[in-house]
Amino acid sequence: MQEYHAPLADMRFVLRELVDWPSLMKLPGFGEVSLDVAEAVLEEAAKFASGVLSPLNRAGDVQGARWQDGRVLTADGWKQAYARFAADGWSALSCGTEIGGQNLPRTLSAFAEEMWNGANMAFALCPMLTRGTVDAIELRGSPALQRRYLAKLVSGEWAGTMNLTEPQAGSDLAAVRTRAVPLGDGRYKLDGQKIFITYGDHDLTDNIVHLVLARIAGAPAGVKGISLFVVPKFLVDAGGKPGARNDVHCVSIENKLGIHASPTCVLAYGQNGGAIGEIVGEENRGLEYMFIMMNAARYSVGLEGVGLAERAYQTALAYARERVQSGPIVGHPDVRRMLLLMKSQTEAMRALAAVAAVSLDAARLHPDEAQRRQAQAFADLMIPVVKGWCTENSVDIASLGIQVHGGVGFVEETGAAQLFRDARITPIYEGTTGIQANDLIGRKLVRDEGRAAEAVIEQMRSLARSLAGDGELSAAAAAFAGAVDALHRAVRHVVDHHATDRPAVMVGAVPLLKLFGIVAGGWQLLRSASIAQQRLASADAAAAGFYRAKIGTARFYADHVLSQATGLAHTIVHGGAAALTDGVL
Ligand SMILES: Cc1cc2nc3c(=O)[nH]c(=O)nc-3n(C[C@H](O)[C@H](O)[C@H](O)COP(=O)(O)OP(=O)(O)OC[C@H]3O[C@@H](n4cnc5c(N)ncnc54)[C@H](O)[C@@H]3O)c2cc1C
Repeated sequence: MQEYHAPLADMRFVLRELVDWPSLMKLPGFGEVSLDVAEAVLEEAAKFASGVLSPLNRAGDVQGARWQDGRVLTADGWKQAYARFAADGWSALSCGTEIGGQNLPRTLSAFAEEMWNGANMAFALCPMLTRGTVDAIELRGSPALQRRYLAKLVSGEWAGTMNLTEPQAGSDLAAVRTRAVPLGDGRYKLDGQKIFITYGDHDLTDNIVHLVLARIAGAPAGVKGISLFVVPKFLVDAGGKPGARNDVHCVSIENKLGIHASPTCVLAYGQNGGAIGEIVGEENRGLEYMFIMMNAARYSVGLEGVGLAERAYQTALAYARERVQSGPIVGHPDVRRMLLLMKSQTEAMRALAAVAAVSLDAARLHPDEAQRRQAQAFADLMIPVVKGWCTENSVDIASLGIQVHGGVGFVEETGAAQLFRDARITPIYEGTTGIQANDLIGRKLVRDEGRAAEAVIEQMRSLARSLAGDGELSAAAAAFAGAVDALHRAVRHVVDHHATDRPAVMVGAVPLLKLFGIVAGGWQLLRSASIAQQRLASADAAAAGFYRAKIGTARFYADHVLSQATGLAHTIVHGGAAALTDGVL
């Protein structure tokens, strides 16, 4: 398998040209990180990704995480790589300086995350979940919890996990049964079983901080009776020192299709008298808090999709340039089509994720409340799209990567098969695509009667109008305008019929999420192509090649991907009845 190379040229383009970096730097707290500094961070991250993480990817897949004598061992080299990751400060990039982080914009750290995922997604999951734990404790934890846990988590000395799932409670978290009994001194005793816990146990850090959803005895049934607890593997004293072993134990790890090196654990709480936990925030508001963290985690899982797609494209392109069958296969029209599908969608996903990250930064830091609210509305709308669309695409793109390889793609040595296996989990965890689509419709479209979506659609239309008479881009702009109309039609249908014909509308939920992704991705590619066109006149030869490719990529996407929009809109508007007809299944 060839090593991962971070797509620095495209990342630089997105940072310098597509994203308004100077405006981002005006947000209070960022302290004016220059573009040169931002690029230097990306270059260092790229070296770490290709030099340290990527070489462990295949070996980790083959060896996997192991459960031995009650302990979970990570693959060879993992511990050293993790220690370097933490020592080099990569776990702390976008955490605030007051808790030991570097306070860099999410817009920048998202690129680093994409690199970790492209290089070695099984590894990247550990810091990703730790970051989620930091967010929850920082936002809702008591000052005492914050004092004892945050610094060690931010530094990477300790790792974090998310414990939601139980055998009977997957997508439906109302069914959570793990119990928490108050001890009367602010602490609780937990017992129950959690399954599928990523990095639920391992040997990378001295302590593991579990965030656990559980029900306090006597709490109301359903989602309104769930609380959030911090349960450390080793109990932490008031001074922050780990001491006695807590009663949470890994009882097995899963044998999985992919991400073999990421231990997926069954965790037993309270088998020997009760696991000691402390509550985060108020009783019975756990699911609400977990959602804050889940939104960040869902965005991060979207970046897993982008990273994997990029690597699948790199691997396939390199092979297609070498493999000769009636000439190098890269010259065959169908292989070009496959490679361009991979490339154009990956660039669209990266650009959309970056634009969403800008709004995450603005929603957190903008001094003007109206601007903060607007940014939050855009981020809220885009998070299920980034999660659902980028991850579903990553599976398709990794599958195309195998196809480009022909028979050897099906053989493990090329690495194309591993990317496909690893990608397959991304549309499942942190809420399946079906759950993302429910979120998009229920919380993001219906709740405000489509207003946030209509505002985005208006921005898209304005771009299409501005490029309508543009020779080279006019056909792509026309295709985009048609796709935006299709999206608008579908959004109106869903908003207008959700109350009266809910099952039929929900048949179209995932197609709508996909349509949203396709059109929003096309929006960013067309913006990119328009910028590239403006820069071409003054570009040197190397830059001109990049800009011309940007224009060509957007044109390809218009004919091959945006063209799916009208079909999807048809399915959303008309596909309900046939799916719900009795006797068909
Ligand atoms: C490798 C791996 C790592 C994981 N890591 C973690 C972790 O760290 N922490 C954690 O808590 N969990 C973790 N999970 C669990 C994961 O989040 C769940 O598997 C996922 O949320 C789906 O739940 P489920 O498996 O019970 O599937 P189910 O909920 O049974 O879903 C089965 C199918 O039904 C659909 N479905 C269910 N409800 C609805 C609905 N209301 N509307 C439409 N469709 C619906 C789903 O989309 C899916 O297609 C992990 C899982 C795996 C496999």
